[in-house]
Amino acid sequence: MVEQLFETGRVDAIKRDNKATVEAYQFGAASAGPFVLFNYRDGYRDFVLPMFLLTHQLGHACARLFAEETPEPLLLARPNKQLSEVPSRLHEFLLTDYLLDVSEDTEFQMRVLQVAEQRLKQELYLSGANLEFIDTVHSLVAENKSPTGDELDAEYRSILEEYMSPVELGDYSASGWMTSKLYVEPYRLFENVLGVVVAADLVSHVRSNPSTFTEFLSTGLRSTSKQHLDRLPTDLSDPTAVSATVTRYQDYVDSISVLIEAH
Ligand SMILES: [Zn+2]
Repeated sequence: MVEQLFETGRVDAIKRDNKATVEAYQFGAASAGPFVLFNYRDGYRDFVLPMFLLTHQLGHACARLFAEETPEPLLLARPNKQLSEVPSRLHEFLLTDYLLDVSEDTEFQMRVLQVAEQRLKQELYLSGANLEFIDTVHSLVAENKSPTGDELDAEYRSILEEYMSPVELGDYSASGWMTSKLYVEPYRLFENVLGVVVAADLVSHVRSNPSTFTEFLSTGLRSTSKQHLDRLPTDLSDPTAVSATVTRYQDYVDSISVLIEAH
């Protein structure tokens, strides 16, 4: 399926004047199939991060292809937005496992683990912390409160401390909320956290039973998010699903330490 995306010219990776500068992006129109825009920047340290970015978008593109397999009704033949980060993150986990498996070059493995660790940390911990912060701010506004900058700093710092522990925060961490997208609805970042948690659990099932995943994608918007999730082996009401993701993160960190020591 991924090959089909390349062969039918759906991945735009060629440098052109006036091309949108976004790193990687997937989009599509009803029944027109997916398109992936990708920019390989000269400033990249190597091809590992861009490979992850492209793989992520190809995950979104595959989700759209599956959802459009049954084009009727047209409006429902689209990926489920709330679960949209599941396929893209799943592709990233598969890529990580694959690259670690095929290469015996420890420096390359270290780089793969480093990128995988950063990308997982971003969603599992930083999106989680930002989600909680945005939710807190929206609640304060709903209660007609007007928190000052210092109060927001303190609130953000305390949330971040909890998520980043045992990492000690620097002096300026409290102001990090200024880069949060406060204008988004609180649960926008929930999609990111949900994506990595479901994908981390699903990755082991997909190898032995790929149809679980493809059926999930083919349903598009024809089921509610809850019905979609009920069909997957991941039980989100059980904290084990989240701890499996934390364990995966820990595995990345441990593997990096082993490689550093062996180096
Ligand atoms: Zn995505």
